[in-house]
Amino acid sequence: MPSSHAGGPRVLLRRLREIMAEQASAQTRLNKLVSVIAANMVAEVCSIYLQRAGDTLELFATEGLNREAVHRTRLKRGEGLVGLVAQDAAPLNLTNAPEHPNFSYRPETGEDPFRSFLGVPIVRGDRVFGVLTVQNKTARQYDEEEEEALLTISMVLAEIVAQGSLIDLAELDQPGMSPHRPALFHGEALAEGLSIGAVFHHEPRVKVERMIADDPVVELQRLEDALLSLRASVDAMLDSTELDLAGDTREVIEAYRLFAHDQGWRTRLRDAVRAGLTAEAAVERVQDETRMRINRTNDPYLRERLHDFDDLARRLVRHLAGGVAHSQSLPVGAVVVARAMGPAELLDYGRNKIAALVVEEATGTSHIAIVARSLGLPLVGGILGIADAARHGDIAVVDADSGEVHLRPVPDMLSAFEAKKALRAQRVARYATIRDEPAITRDGLRITLNMNAGLLVDLPHVVESGADGIGLFRTELQFMIGSTMPRLKDQTDFYREVFRSVGDRPIVFRTLDLGGDKVPSYGRTVREENPALGWRAIRIALDRPALLRYQVRALIAAAEGRPLKILLPMISEVSEFETAKMQIGREMDRARSKGAPLPAKLDIGTMVEVPSLLFELPQLLATADFISIGSNDLLQFVFAADRTNPAVARRYDSLSPAVLSLIRHVVTTAASMKRVDAISVCGEMAGRPLEAMALIGMGITGLSVQAASIGPVKMMIRSLDTRALKPEVTRLTSMPGSSARVALAAFAAENDVQVDRLG
Ligand code: PEP
Ligand code: MG
Repeated sequence: MPSSHAGGPRVLLRRLREIMAEQASAQTRLNKLVSVIAANMVAEVCSIYLQRAGDTLELFATEGLNREAVHRTRLKRGEGLVGLVAQDAAPLNLTNAPEHPNFSYRPETGEDPFRSFLGVPIVRGDRVFGVLTVQNKTARQYDEEEEEALLTISMVLAEIVAQGSLIDLAELDQPGMSPHRPALFHGEALAEGLSIGAVFHHEPRVKVERMIADDPVVELQRLEDALLSLRASVDAMLDSTELDLAGDTREVIEAYRLFAHDQGWRTRLRDAVRAGLTAEAAVERVQDETRMRINRTNDPYLRERLHDFDDLARRLVRHLAGGVAHSQSLPVGAVVVARAMGPAELLDYGRNKIAALVVEEATGTSHIAIVARSLGLPLVGGILGIADAARHGDIAVVDADSGEVHLRPVPDMLSAFEAKKALRAQRVARYATIRDEPAITRDGLRITLNMNAGLLVDLPHVVESGADGIGLFRTELQFMIGSTMPRLKDQTDFYREVFRSVGDRPIVFRTLDLGGDKVPSYGRTVREENPALGWRAIRIALDRPALLRYQVRALIAAAEGRPLKILLPMISEVSEFETAKMQIGREMDRARSKGAPLPAKLDIGTMVEVPSLLFELPQLLATADFISIGSNDLLQFVFAADRTNPAVARRYDSLSPAVLSLIRHVVTTAASMKRVDAISVCGEMAGRPLEAMALIGMGITGLSVQAASIGPVKMMIRSLDTRALKPEVTRLTSMPGSSARVALAAFAAENDVQVDRLG
């Protein structure tokens, strides 16, 4: 079926919308629908069966079978191939349908000459509305793309049916359905990708009916039994060959297992039962207390972990109720919408059924985000109100590149989305063609284009994306996903694996940047009023040199004689850099005295992310081997705008004249010392093609960006001629106004510089 070639479902969806808008009877429109679908899919038959009261599927329209059979042919759920599709709520793709044990011949349809059969359920949420089929005479295998196309159509059909404009819903035994308006939500893109699917509400809470225990001894026993089976189920998750947990996901779940085995938790639960509560009520009570305690600490990292505790508590209540998994009814291709969700709950669903995730309370460092990224599932978080607005079964378009979620999109929107998906695929394909090409401008300027990383899950991207190397390895992330501080051996093993995965490519390890919004569960005990300005990163390292020394020891050992580049975060004055450098020197001396292999070359650099350092640049450049501008923190401090507060985070533009002047100041100072090559930019702005263009226009020749930005930024670089750009950027730097964005975008458009982003 060449549907996928001839414009695919997009063209068809547009046709469906036109048919819907016609002033004809429902039957006429249905008849048209099937004939258009059949033509588009190059099928000889296309039929729609809808579900009637009493679990009966009725042939509502057909192209290719006998029209007399319409409204006469009826099948029970589970009966025949169509009944099977409805019963399993899953597609059935057969080369030789009559041979299937469920095949049931209905003479009135004239179905006998058709051998190949593809049937997909018409589902909305967990409700099957009917079945859509296509058939061909030849024994052929419909491919995956064709199956997907039919699923997309059936999803739209479900929406059309649910709106009641086609068929009176009363006829269909579908109470409670009413037309509902489209809605658009903006959130944070936490794991990239584009998907469409039907909403499935993640409602993990089991209602606790009985609060007061009749017999505390019995309740204690129930609690113990449930704890045992809970622990066994978490252990089983780790051992499961089906889930086959590895890397970061495994570490997240291992940390979670420690919570499940926590004796303090068990004691608190037992105390609550002894006080007279049922086991279920005790779980709720202890969880309420934990929540209150954590909320009082005002600690963002612990707040993230609260979702893990909640997940665990809900799971325990489910074990008390007999262990019913909430995930069983999840239809294939669902968009799972949740207020909050823990990492284990996500794994319960399995990786194959979910098309995308929308989790109101998820943030970039939450465990669910880490697991979603490693499973390759698009995730939008930080999106309040969507769980209330979305109904089970609504169609949702999740754009986890831009952070937008469209609920109940109009057909136009669906077509636009399909177009965007196709464009994205095209762009990804174009990026692949330049993957092994250098990041070089049209006038021959070579830019070092590195990737940012921090977890094992990022490492394969170094090769896949075509990055020159890793320009920023955030070592603190590894410390944050565990529940205890990694020991020297763990750190060494981990860095060794990182070195191995980059091969000969250069890599820059940044020493721990803990504190601020990155606090491990075993970390901060003292509450800070302004954590971003507090005891963090190098400040901790200088006060607790053993921490830095251990990390450097692990890095030297892992380097096994390769060149080693160490980057120090949050340096505020040159003297701090000197002190840290001295500590690193001591570790080199130690390794030397032990006869261990030393790195072939040791480079020590610093982040420039605290504004005070901008006023000591000549001294800094005289002592640092390299400098990495951390625009995320630097701009937060320059503009005095908290990067984690959505109300102000986007208030100031990274392309304002102030930022351009600042970068220019760094480049000019470095140029006067012939050190421009020592400077790179590694904050988020470097990964946005237009910003990256401006940086290059100011003389920056090194960028480090997230993996998904390598393709778009390289594409921009290879289409750029810096001879025209440089005078324009100079002109814009001295222009009044709050942003040079529009002018830079105009420059890009006039000069054919490709500044598209993936999203
Ligand atoms: C930065 O501040 O720009 C940076 C790259 O570091 P992080 O985002 O880890 O603070
Ligand atoms: Mg920073």
